[in-house]
Amino acid sequence: MEEQKQALSIAQKQNLYLLDCLDFLKDADETFKNSAFHEFAIQLLTTGQKITSKQLINDELGINDPRAVSRYMKRFITKLEENKALLWQSISPQKEHLLNRFPMIKVEQGGGNGIPNKYFIEPEDIISKTQEVPLHEKNEVINPIYISYKAEKLKRTPWYIRVCSPFFEKYRSRLAFMLPLLLIAFLSPLALIALFTKGLIGMELLIIASVIESYILFIPAKKLSFLVKNKAVLIDEHIGQPLSAICLSEITKIHSSDNKDIERKLTTLVIKGRCPICYSHYGYDNSVILEYDRIFFPKRVIGKCLHNPIEHQFSFDKDLMSGKKLN
Ligand SMILES: [Zn+2]
Repeated sequence: MEEQKQALSIAQKQNLYLLDCLDFLKDADETFKNSAFHEFAIQLLTTGQKITSKQLINDELGINDPRAVSRYMKRFITKLEENKALLWQSISPQKEHLLNRFPMIKVEQGGGNGIPNKYFIEPEDIISKTQEVPLHEKNEVINPIYISYKAEKLKRTPWYIRVCSPFFEKYRSRLAFMLPLLLIAFLSPLALIALFTKGLIGMELLIIASVIESYILFIPAKKLSFLVKNKAVLIDEHIGQPLSAICLSEITKIHSSDNKDIERKLTTLVIKGRCPICYSHYGYDNSVILEYDRIFFPKRVIGKCLHNPIEHQFSFDKDLMSGKKLN
């Protein structure tokens, strides 16, 4: 399999890489759900030629004039630029695609007078936000202080995050959504107990209703309020979710320095980290997973090494995707 990938041309590798990027964006952004045009554009652009907006017109896909092409391409390019570092980390380019640089789509503006825009691919260096721990041979002495995390997209986002995601965009909608939710979530157990004490429901029904209530109201409300407060919440304890699954509340737009003017979006990821100590001693990779710092009243998400969970603990900075060894 590895040999097969080695044999691919740069253009083919760029093609596969950009299709994976599109796939990633599709999961994170509703506007990419209908991505047939973007797939078509990737196929043309990875021929290594400059492609004019006229060549990108595709009647079958409903993109029938240069303006529509420009709109769709601009959206794609903006999203690639915004998410470049995250995509580069998440889609492991060196391993799977053997690319050394990010295949960024660029545009050469036609500037009016009927001259069409031209699109092409230009590989770009990634200035990583993370402090990369370089590859080391086993037993080589390394600085065991820093860790960099790797993010993969979560395959199945929990239902309540999918449902609540649109309300998290703006401050006001977050507030308008969370207050009633918290109120209902905390009052409904009291209502059930009241029904039970008045003899309106039996013990069996009380137990069943409590389980359902905690699953559809209490746990989601608790998770979401944690997310509003801390901007990151672990979601890995649900059945079928992988360890170290996390939901992050990320900034998409800042209109002013006022906290109320910040737009956000929810992203669900699976995070793994390379413990610098275990990797250098045993070659044990990806042994660090995210957990809370304590079981009761957790405050902070940290990275714990599966091989040495007590001593090998690291901080987790979601924005830098890196951390430092904790004492
Ligand atoms: Zn370790």
